[in-house]
Amino acid sequence: MNVSDNGARSSILIIYTGGTIGMKMDAATGALVPFDFSGIYGEFPSLRRLNVDIDVHTMPQLIDSSNVRPSDWCAIAGVIRDNYERYDGFVILHGTDTMSYSASALSFMLENLAKPVVFTGSQIPIGVLRTDGRENLITAIEIAGAKIDGRAAVPEVSLFFHSRLCRGNRTHKVSAEELDAFSSPNYPPLAEAGVKITYNLPAISRTDEVSYPLRIATMLSEGVAIVKLFPGIGEYTLRALLSVEGLRGVVLETYGAGNAPTCDWFLGLMRETVERGVVVLNVTQCDNGSVEMQLYETGQRLRAAGVLSAYDMTTEAAITKLMYVLGKNLPFDRSVELLTRPLRGEFTL
Ligand code: ASP
Repeated sequence: MNVSDNGARSSILIIYTGGTIGMKMDAATGALVPFDFSGIYGEFPSLRRLNVDIDVHTMPQLIDSSNVRPSDWCAIAGVIRDNYERYDGFVILHGTDTMSYSASALSFMLENLAKPVVFTGSQIPIGVLRTDGRENLITAIEIAGAKIDGRAAVPEVSLFFHSRLCRGNRTHKVSAEELDAFSSPNYPPLAEAGVKITYNLPAISRTDEVSYPLRIATMLSEGVAIVKLFPGIGEYTLRALLSVEGLRGVVLETYGAGNAPTCDWFLGLMRETVERGVVVLNVTQCDNGSVEMQLYETGQRLRAAGVLSAYDMTTEAAITKLMYVLGKNLPFDRSVELLTRPLRGEFTL
C-alpha cells in the first residue's frame, strides 16, 4: 500500500549513537571525523521539503557499534521514554555491525510501544560522495513520520537499510561489503522503498486503539551466552562453558531444523543444565527456516532434555530476548512461558 501525505506534519527525533553513518571527511586533514547531525538542515537542505520537523539528540558518547553494551540500550530507551510524548517517531542512527542486536533488544525493552522507532546506518560515511547514508537517513525519517488514517504507519521497532524496512528483531547483518547489508530471512519486509515507499500493511504490527503507556525495561540479564555446535565439539569444552557461574540462559545454535548429537554425554549435559535452572533456547545455524524439534529423533531427544525451541528466531533476537526475560527475575516456568510465545513478532509459530 502507498501512503499518501495526508497533510499533517510529523515531528521526529533523531537519536545519533555513532557508527559509520556519522563520519565525514575533514577537508583539511582528509581524516574521517564525526558529523554534527545538529546541523542536519544545513547539510541536507532538501530535508525541509519533507513534511516533518526534525530534532537531533546526540548521545554523550558516540561509539563504534562493536562497543555497544546493554547500558547503551538502556540509555537509548531512556531518551525515547523522555521524549515519547513530544515526537511522532524516532530514528536511531547506529553502526551497522551490531544494529540487529540493538534493534532486537529495543524491541523487547520498549513495552507498549505505539510509535515508530526506525534504526538505520550506512556502509559508507555520510560525508563521502557515494554514501548510502543519505538515502537511508532520508527514507528512515520519512517512514518514521508516515501516517495512515492519522496513525503511525509502522508503530514498531524496525530497521531500514538500502531499500527495505524490516522488523528490527527479524534482521541480520549479512554483508560487510555490499550496500544491501541486512536480511530478514524469515519475515517479509514491512515496506519497500522504490520510486514510492510501499507499505506491507498485513506484515506490520499495528496496535489496537487501546494504548497503554510506554514502559521501558532496563533490567537485562548478563548471565547469558551463545554456544554454536560444530562436529567434534568436546565434552570438556561444552561442560566448562555451561558450568560458568551465574549462567542463566543459553542460545544453542544447532544444525538444520534444530538437530544436535544424540550421544549420551551431550544429552545428559543438556538435561543437567536445564535441571540447574538454565534456560536453553534452540536456534538453527541455517540462514533461514525454523527449528522443528519434532521432525527428527535428534531434535526430539533435545526437547525431551528440556531444550526449548526458538522456532525461526535469529540469534540476535534470541539472545536479547533471553536478556530481557531473565532480567525480569521471574520464576523459571513463567520465563519459559514468555520465551515460548512471540512477544514482539520475533518468531512465527
Ligand atoms: N564499525 C561500524 C559500526 O558498527 C560499522 C558501521 O557503522 O557500518 O559502528
